[in-house]
Amino acid sequence: TEAAAREALERFIVDVPDFPEPGVVFKDITPLLADHTAFATVVEALADAGRDASGATVVDKVVGMEARGFILAAPVALALGAGFVPVRKAGKLPRAAYAVSYALEYAEATLELHEDAVAPGERVLLVDDVLATGGTVAATRELVERGGGTAVAVAVLMELSFLPGREAIGDLPLHSLLTV
Ligand code: AMP
Repeated sequence: TEAAAREALERFIVDVPDFPEPGVVFKDITPLLADHTAFATVVEALADAGRDASGATVVDKVVGMEARGFILAAPVALALGAGFVPVRKAGKLPRAAYAVSYALEYAEATLELHEDAVAPGERVLLVDDVLATGGTVAATRELVERGGGTAVAVAVLMELSFLPGREAIGDLPLHSLLTV
């Protein structure tokens, strides 16, 4: 599964130079999503991060971070027989929510999680497309743990190894299908 997923990522993810700003190479996953076999392969590989060696699901919830994390985390949750939970940008969730702010290069970002979305003691898998600085994952972990949940792992399609994402997420196990 892992080798097939890596092949799908190498074939279908498109590098877009200087988007959304000069110097950034944007990893466009839309061609991957448009290919049914490639999409199914990477969803299965991400879902393995929420299973033990015998193949049993070990998480209660799968959290996806707005916006591309939603697209991946929802089918991963269904594959695992777990619930899906969205972490959203500030002001989008309609009910009482925890909020965590973190520093971006030139600004600050805030992420939110409904207070009742993760019950105390629940085990949570975090899913996103790209791990860059790790700020998004670190903030999401904090949101999950604020309500008494436990983040057990993070699964991403791609890790950008020239950025300090791995250090930023500390002891949270990282399942990255491709390192670039
Ligand atoms: P970070 O918080 O720095 O780890 O950034 C991760 C978030 O930004 C993820 O939600 C990614 O979708 C997005 N992101 C960061 N860098 C890239 C990139 N080069 N291409 C596509 N998405 C990116």
